[in-house]
Amino acid sequence: MTSLYDPTRDEIASLLDDEPRYRLDQLWRGLYGEFAEPADISTLPAALRTRIADVLPTALDEVRRSIGDGGDTVKFLWRLRNGDHPIETVLMLYRERATVCVSTQAGCAMGCGFCATGQAGFSRHLTVGEIVEQVVRCAREAKLRNRRVDNVVFMGMGEPLANEAAVWGAIERLHADVGLSARHLTVSTVGLVPGIRTLATRPLPVNLAVSLHAARDDLRNELVPINTRYPIGDLVEACREYLRVKRRRVTFEWALIDGVNDTDRDADELAGICGALSPAAHVNLIPLNPTPGWPTKGTPPARVRAFRDALEARGVNATVRQNRGTEIDAACGQLAAGQPVAVPSRRSTPNRG
Ligand code: SAH
Ligand code: SF4
Repeated sequence: MTSLYDPTRDEIASLLDDEPRYRLDQLWRGLYGEFAEPADISTLPAALRTRIADVLPTALDEVRRSIGDGGDTVKFLWRLRNGDHPIETVLMLYRERATVCVSTQAGCAMGCGFCATGQAGFSRHLTVGEIVEQVVRCAREAKLRNRRVDNVVFMGMGEPLANEAAVWGAIERLHADVGLSARHLTVSTVGLVPGIRTLATRPLPVNLAVSLHAARDDLRNELVPINTRYPIGDLVEACREYLRVKRRRVTFEWALIDGVNDTDRDADELAGICGALSPAAHVNLIPLNPTPGWPTKGTPPARVRAFRDALEARGVNATVRQNRGTEIDAACGQLAAGQPVAVPSRRSTPNRG
Protein backbone atom coordinates (compact mmCIF):
# COMPACT_ATOMS: atom_id res chain seq x y z
CA MET A 1 0.00 0.00 0.00
CA THR A 2 1.42 3.38 -1.02
CA SER A 3 0.81 6.41 1.13
CA LEU A 4 1.12 10.14 0.46
CA TYR A 5 4.80 10.52 1.32
CA ASP A 6 6.01 7.28 -0.29
CA PRO A 7 6.27 8.22 -3.99
CA THR A 8 9.24 10.10 -5.36
CA ARG A 9 8.67 13.26 -7.37
CA ASP A 10 9.05 11.24 -10.59
CA GLU A 11 6.50 8.70 -9.41
CA ILE A 12 4.00 11.46 -8.63
CA ALA A 13 4.76 13.01 -12.03
CA SER A 14 3.64 9.85 -13.78
CA LEU A 15 0.57 9.68 -11.58
CA LEU A 16 -0.32 13.22 -12.66
CA ASP A 17 0.72 12.87 -16.32
CA ASP A 18 -2.68 14.11 -17.48
CA GLU A 19 -2.20 17.37 -15.57
CA PRO A 20 -0.14 20.40 -16.59
CA ARG A 21 3.43 20.17 -15.36
CA TYR A 22 3.10 23.09 -12.93
CA ARG A 23 0.55 21.12 -10.91
CA LEU A 24 3.34 18.79 -9.83
CA ASP A 25 5.38 21.76 -8.64
CA GLN A 26 2.42 23.12 -6.71
CA LEU A 27 1.71 19.78 -5.07
CA TRP A 28 5.35 19.13 -4.19
CA ARG A 29 5.79 22.60 -2.73
CA GLY A 30 2.59 22.19 -0.73
CA LEU A 31 3.64 18.80 0.66
CA TYR A 32 7.31 19.42 1.45
CA GLY A 33 7.71 23.22 1.50
CA GLU A 34 4.58 24.13 3.42
CA PHE A 35 3.79 20.81 5.12
CA ALA A 36 0.17 21.21 4.04
CA GLU A 37 -2.41 18.47 3.77
CA PRO A 38 -3.51 17.96 0.14
CA ALA A 39 -6.98 19.30 1.00
CA ASP A 40 -5.36 22.58 2.11
CA ILE A 41 -3.11 23.15 -0.93
CA SER A 42 -5.19 25.99 -2.25
CA THR A 43 -3.19 26.44 -5.45
CA LEU A 44 -4.62 23.10 -6.66
CA PRO A 45 -8.16 22.73 -8.05
CA ALA A 46 -10.56 21.05 -5.62
CA ALA A 47 -11.06 18.00 -7.85
CA LEU A 48 -7.34 17.34 -7.97
CA ARG A 49 -6.99 17.69 -4.19
CA THR A 50 -9.72 15.09 -3.74
CA ARG A 51 -8.12 12.78 -6.30
CA ILE A 52 -4.76 12.95 -4.55
CA ALA A 53 -6.29 12.32 -1.13
CA ASP A 54 -8.10 9.26 -2.58
CA VAL A 55 -5.13 7.77 -4.40
CA LEU A 56 -2.50 8.64 -1.82
CA PRO A 57 -3.94 8.53 1.69
CA THR A 58 -1.81 9.49 4.67
CA ALA A 59 -0.23 6.62 6.61
CA LEU A 60 -0.56 7.76 10.22
CA ASP A 61 -3.67 8.28 12.31
CA GLU A 62 -3.03 10.32 15.42
CA VAL A 63 -4.19 8.42 18.49
CA ARG A 64 -2.84 10.66 21.21
CA ARG A 65 -0.29 13.34 21.90
CA SER A 66 1.43 13.85 25.23
CA ILE A 67 2.98 17.17 26.16
CA GLY A 68 5.98 17.52 28.46
CA ASP A 69 8.64 20.04 29.48
CA GLY A 70 6.14 22.88 29.65
CA GLY A 71 5.00 22.28 26.07
CA ASP A 72 8.45 21.94 24.54
CA THR A 73 8.32 18.16 24.11
CA VAL A 74 5.46 16.59 22.21
CA LYS A 75 5.15 12.82 21.89
CA PHE A 76 2.81 11.59 19.19
CA LEU A 77 1.28 8.15 19.30
CA TRP A 78 0.11 7.07 15.85
CA ARG A 79 -1.65 4.06 14.48
CA LEU A 80 -0.29 2.85 11.16
CA ARG A 81 -3.22 2.65 8.73
CA ASN A 82 -1.62 -0.34 7.11
CA GLY A 83 -1.65 -3.05 9.73
CA ASP A 84 -2.88 -1.10 12.74
CA HIS A 85 0.47 -1.04 14.60
CA PRO A 86 1.22 1.71 17.14
CA ILE A 87 4.35 3.82 16.68
CA GLU A 88 5.66 6.99 18.31
CA THR A 89 7.46 10.18 17.27
CA VAL A 90 8.86 12.89 19.52
CA LEU A 91 9.16 16.59 18.67
CA MET A 92 11.62 18.46 20.89
CA LEU A 93 11.66 22.24 20.76
CA TYR A 94 14.87 23.70 22.12
CA ARG A 95 15.60 27.41 22.19
CA GLU A 96 18.06 27.21 19.32
CA ARG A 97 16.76 24.23 17.35
CA ALA A 98 13.85 21.85 16.87
CA THR A 99 14.51 18.13 16.65
CA VAL A 100 12.28 15.26 15.57
CA CYS A 101 13.02 11.74 16.79
CA VAL A 102 11.48 9.26 14.33
CA SER A 103 10.66 5.57 14.50
CA THR A 104 11.91 3.32 11.73
CA GLN A 105 10.14 0.08 12.64
CA ALA A 106 6.99 -0.90 14.50
CA GLY A 107 8.78 -2.54 17.44
CA CYS A 108 12.30 -3.89 17.22
CA ALA A 109 13.79 -7.35 16.87
CA MET A 110 17.13 -6.62 18.55
CA GLY A 111 15.98 -7.56 22.05
CA CYS A 112 18.08 -5.17 24.17
CA GLY A 113 16.64 -5.96 27.59
CA PHE A 114 16.78 -2.41 29.00
CA CYS A 115 14.80 -0.93 26.10
CA ALA A 116 11.02 -0.64 26.20
CA THR A 117 10.75 -1.03 22.43
CA GLY A 118 12.92 -4.13 22.50
CA GLN A 119 10.85 -5.61 25.31
CA ALA A 120 7.71 -5.35 23.17
CA GLY A 121 9.15 -7.26 20.15
CA PHE A 122 9.01 -6.65 16.40
CA SER A 123 5.96 -6.07 14.18
CA ARG A 124 7.22 -4.74 10.84
CA HIS A 125 9.48 -2.31 8.99
CA LEU A 126 8.19 1.18 8.22
CA THR A 127 8.11 2.46 4.65
CA VAL A 128 9.80 5.62 3.36
CA GLY A 129 6.44 7.39 3.47
CA GLU A 130 5.71 6.32 7.03
CA ILE A 131 9.07 7.66 8.19
CA VAL A 132 8.85 10.91 6.23
CA GLU A 133 5.26 11.53 7.34
CA GLN A 134 6.39 11.53 10.99
CA VAL A 135 8.71 14.46 10.20
CA VAL A 136 6.12 16.30 8.11
CA ARG A 137 3.43 16.00 10.81
CA CYS A 138 5.89 17.31 13.42
CA ALA A 139 6.99 20.11 11.09
CA ARG A 140 3.33 21.07 10.70
CA GLU A 141 2.97 21.21 14.48
CA ALA A 142 6.21 23.21 14.79
CA LYS A 143 4.99 25.63 12.13
CA LEU A 144 1.92 26.42 14.22
CA ARG A 145 4.39 27.65 16.84
CA ASN A 146 6.44 29.58 14.26
CA ARG A 147 9.25 27.06 14.46
CA ARG A 148 11.07 25.04 11.82
CA VAL A 149 12.31 21.51 12.28
CA ASP A 150 16.05 21.53 11.74
CA ASN A 151 17.25 18.17 13.04
CA VAL A 152 16.02 14.64 12.55
CA VAL A 153 17.39 11.79 14.64
CA PHE A 154 16.60 8.18 13.75
CA MET A 155 16.43 7.20 17.41
CA GLY A 156 12.79 6.32 17.95
CA MET A 157 11.36 2.83 17.87
CA GLY A 158 13.24 0.26 15.83
CA GLU A 159 16.69 -0.35 14.45
CA PRO A 160 17.27 1.95 11.46
CA LEU A 161 20.00 -0.16 9.86
CA ALA A 162 17.78 -3.26 9.92
CA ASN A 163 15.58 -1.22 7.56
CA GLU A 164 18.36 0.65 5.80
CA ALA A 165 16.79 0.97 2.34
CA ALA A 166 13.65 2.72 3.63
CA VAL A 167 15.69 4.83 6.04
CA TRP A 168 17.92 5.91 3.19
CA GLY A 169 14.88 6.75 1.03
CA ALA A 170 13.60 8.93 3.89
CA ILE A 171 16.99 10.61 4.30
CA GLU A 172 17.08 11.50 0.61
CA ARG A 173 13.60 13.01 0.77
CA LEU A 174 14.37 14.98 3.93
CA HIS A 175 17.57 16.25 2.38
CA ALA A 176 16.36 17.08 -1.12
CA ASP A 177 12.78 18.19 -0.47
CA VAL A 178 12.50 19.28 3.16
CA GLY A 179 15.93 20.89 2.88
CA LEU A 180 17.67 19.36 5.90
CA SER A 181 21.43 19.16 5.57
CA ALA A 182 23.23 15.86 6.14
CA ARG A 183 24.92 17.25 9.25
CA HIS A 184 21.46 17.64 10.78
CA LEU A 185 20.48 14.02 10.16
CA THR A 186 21.64 11.35 12.61
CA VAL A 187 21.23 7.60 12.30
CA SER A 188 21.51 5.69 15.58
CA THR A 189 22.34 2.01 15.38
CA VAL A 190 22.70 -0.80 17.86
CA GLY A 191 25.79 -1.75 15.85
CA LEU A 192 24.73 -3.66 12.73
CA VAL A 193 28.09 -3.87 10.98
CA PRO A 194 26.79 -4.61 7.44
CA GLY A 195 24.36 -1.68 7.78
CA ILE A 196 27.15 0.70 8.82
CA ARG A 197 29.17 -0.45 5.82
CA THR A 198 26.22 0.14 3.49
CA LEU A 199 25.64 3.59 5.01
CA ALA A 200 29.29 4.40 4.29
CA THR A 201 28.65 3.80 0.58
CA ARG A 202 25.68 6.20 0.49
CA PRO A 203 26.29 9.64 -0.98
CA LEU A 204 25.40 11.89 1.98
CA PRO A 205 27.61 12.21 5.09
CA VAL A 206 24.93 11.78 7.76
CA ASN A 207 25.98 11.56 11.41
CA LEU A 208 26.41 8.11 12.86
CA ALA A 209 25.54 7.31 16.47
CA VAL A 210 26.38 3.87 17.80
CA SER A 211 24.67 2.56 20.93
CA LEU A 212 27.72 1.04 22.57
CA HIS A 213 26.81 0.89 26.30
CA ALA A 214 29.70 -1.47 27.07
CA ALA A 215 33.27 -1.59 25.81
CA ARG A 216 34.01 -5.25 26.50
CA ASP A 217 32.31 -8.14 24.79
CA ASP A 218 31.14 -10.14 27.81
CA LEU A 219 29.17 -7.22 29.24
CA ARG A 220 27.95 -5.99 25.86
CA ASN A 221 26.72 -9.49 24.97
CA GLU A 222 24.44 -9.26 28.00
CA LEU A 223 23.19 -5.73 27.39
CA VAL A 224 22.98 -5.77 23.60
CA PRO A 225 22.46 -9.37 22.40
CA ILE A 226 23.35 -8.59 18.75
CA ASN A 227 26.92 -8.08 19.99
CA THR A 228 27.36 -11.86 19.85
CA ARG A 229 26.99 -11.58 16.06
CA TYR A 230 28.89 -8.29 15.59
CA PRO A 231 31.42 -8.05 18.42
CA ILE A 232 33.07 -4.80 19.48
CA GLY A 233 36.24 -5.29 17.41
CA ASP A 234 34.24 -5.61 14.15
CA LEU A 235 31.96 -2.75 15.16
CA VAL A 236 34.85 -0.37 15.87
CA GLU A 237 36.41 -1.36 12.53
CA ALA A 238 33.17 -0.46 10.72
CA CYS A 239 33.10 2.89 12.59
CA ARG A 240 36.70 3.56 11.58
CA GLU A 241 35.77 2.93 7.95
CA TYR A 242 32.75 5.23 8.23
CA LEU A 243 34.93 7.99 9.67
CA ARG A 244 37.51 7.53 6.95
CA VAL A 245 34.94 7.81 4.15
CA LYS A 246 32.66 10.50 5.60
CA ARG A 247 34.98 12.58 7.78
CA ARG A 248 32.09 12.83 10.21
CA ARG A 249 32.31 12.41 13.94
CA VAL A 250 30.95 9.14 15.34
CA THR A 251 29.03 9.39 18.60
CA PHE A 252 28.87 6.53 21.07
CA GLU A 253 25.65 6.39 23.06
CA TRP A 254 26.14 5.11 26.58
CA ALA A 255 23.11 4.49 28.82
CA LEU A 256 24.60 4.57 32.32
CA ILE A 257 23.38 1.66 34.42
CA ASP A 258 24.01 1.79 38.14
CA GLY A 259 26.99 -0.34 39.07
CA VAL A 260 27.00 -2.10 35.67
CA ASN A 261 28.79 0.13 33.14
CA ASP A 262 29.71 3.23 35.16
CA THR A 263 32.95 2.15 36.84
CA ASP A 264 36.52 3.35 36.28
CA ARG A 265 37.19 0.14 34.43
CA ASP A 266 34.39 1.00 31.98
CA ALA A 267 35.82 4.50 31.55
CA ASP A 268 39.24 2.98 30.79
CA GLU A 269 37.86 0.56 28.23
CA LEU A 270 35.67 3.17 26.54
CA ALA A 271 38.55 5.67 26.41
CA GLY A 272 40.66 2.96 24.77
CA ILE A 273 38.12 2.57 21.96
CA CYS A 274 37.58 6.31 21.47
CA GLY A 275 41.28 7.06 21.44
CA ALA A 276 41.85 4.51 18.69
CA LEU A 277 39.47 6.34 16.34
CA SER A 278 40.36 9.36 14.30
CA PRO A 279 38.83 11.87 14.54
CA ALA A 280 38.13 10.66 18.07
CA ALA A 281 34.62 9.55 18.90
CA HIS A 282 32.34 11.65 21.04
CA VAL A 283 30.46 10.03 23.94
CA ASN A 284 26.86 10.82 24.81
CA LEU A 285 26.02 9.77 28.35
CA ILE A 286 22.43 9.24 29.37
CA PRO A 287 21.33 7.78 32.69
CA LEU A 288 19.25 4.67 31.99
CA ASN A 289 15.54 5.42 31.96
CA PRO A 290 13.62 2.90 34.02
CA THR A 291 11.44 0.48 32.05
CA PRO A 292 9.01 -2.06 33.48
CA GLY A 293 10.82 -5.09 32.10
CA TRP A 294 14.35 -4.44 33.37
CA PRO A 295 15.42 -4.58 37.00
CA THR A 296 18.43 -2.23 37.12
CA LYS A 297 18.45 1.51 37.77
CA GLY A 298 20.07 4.47 36.06
CA THR A 299 23.33 5.79 37.51
CA PRO A 300 22.69 8.57 40.06
CA PRO A 301 23.57 12.13 38.93
CA ALA A 302 26.78 12.50 40.97
CA ARG A 303 28.17 9.26 39.55
CA VAL A 304 27.13 10.34 36.03
CA ARG A 305 29.23 13.48 36.45
CA ALA A 306 32.11 11.46 37.88
CA PHE A 307 31.99 9.10 34.89
CA ARG A 308 32.00 12.05 32.50
CA ASP A 309 34.98 13.52 34.35
CA ALA A 310 36.76 10.17 34.24
CA LEU A 311 36.33 10.12 30.46
CA GLU A 312 37.46 13.71 30.07
CA ALA A 313 40.52 12.97 32.19
CA ARG A 314 41.32 10.22 29.70
CA GLY A 315 41.03 12.66 26.80
CA VAL A 316 37.52 11.69 25.69
CA ASN A 317 34.96 14.30 24.77
CA ALA A 318 31.79 13.41 26.65
CA THR A 319 28.47 15.14 27.22
CA VAL A 320 25.60 14.23 29.47
CA ARG A 321 22.53 14.24 27.28
CA GLN A 322 19.75 16.54 28.36
CA ASN A 323 16.92 14.25 29.31
CA ARG A 324 13.79 15.34 27.52
CA GLY A 325 10.25 14.19 28.07
CA THR A 326 10.85 11.59 30.75
CA GLU A 327 7.61 12.50 32.49
CA ILE A 328 5.68 11.54 29.37
CA ASP A 329 7.87 8.51 28.57
CA ALA A 330 9.23 10.30 25.53
CA ALA A 331 12.89 9.75 26.31
CA CYS A 332 14.87 7.40 24.13
CA GLY A 333 14.23 3.83 25.07
CA GLN A 334 10.89 4.58 26.64
CA LEU A 335 9.01 4.57 23.38
CA ALA A 336 6.80 1.54 23.66
CA ALA A 337 3.70 2.95 22.02
CA GLY A 338 1.66 2.73 25.17
CA GLN A 339 1.68 -1.04 24.98
CA PRO A 340 1.60 -2.98 28.20
CA VAL A 341 5.01 -4.54 28.63
CA ALA A 342 5.29 -8.06 29.97
CA VAL A 343 7.60 -8.28 32.95
CA PRO A 344 9.71 -11.42 32.65
CA SER A 345 9.34 -13.64 35.68
CA ARG A 346 13.08 -14.06 36.12
CA ARG A 347 15.87 -12.01 34.64
CA SER A 348 19.45 -11.86 35.75
CA THR A 349 20.98 -8.48 36.40
CA PRO A 350 24.15 -8.02 34.40
CA ASN A 351 27.04 -8.28 36.82
CA ARG A 352 29.95 -5.94 37.05
CA GLY A 353 32.14 -8.25 34.96
N1 SAH B 1 17.83 0.97 17.62
C1 SAH B 1 18.66 2.11 17.60
C2 SAH B 1 17.89 3.42 17.70
C3 SAH B 1 16.73 3.45 18.65
S1 SAH B 1 17.12 3.30 20.37
C4 SAH B 1 19.73 2.03 18.66
O1 SAH B 1 19.66 1.14 19.49
O2 SAH B 1 20.65 2.84 18.60
C5 SAH B 1 17.71 4.96 20.73
C6 SAH B 1 18.68 5.04 21.89
O3 SAH B 1 18.00 4.84 23.14
C7 SAH B 1 19.77 4.00 21.85
O4 SAH B 1 21.01 4.59 22.16
C8 SAH B 1 19.34 3.05 22.94
O5 SAH B 1 20.39 2.27 23.42
C9 SAH B 1 18.78 4.01 23.94
N2 SAH B 1 17.96 3.39 24.97
C10 SAH B 1 17.13 2.34 24.85
N3 SAH B 1 16.53 2.07 26.03
C11 SAH B 1 16.97 2.98 26.91
C12 SAH B 1 16.71 3.25 28.28
N4 SAH B 1 15.86 2.50 28.97
N5 SAH B 1 17.36 4.27 28.86
C13 SAH B 1 18.22 5.05 28.15
N6 SAH B 1 18.50 4.87 26.86
C14 SAH B 1 17.89 3.84 26.24
FE1 SF4 C 1 16.04 -2.01 19.29
FE2 SF4 C 1 17.61 0.12 19.79
FE3 SF4 C 1 15.83 -0.75 21.60
FE4 SF4 C 1 18.00 -2.22 21.09
S1 SF4 C 1 17.95 -0.16 21.99
S2 SF4 C 1 15.90 -3.01 21.28
S3 SF4 C 1 18.22 -1.87 18.92
S4 SF4 C 1 15.34 0.09 19.62
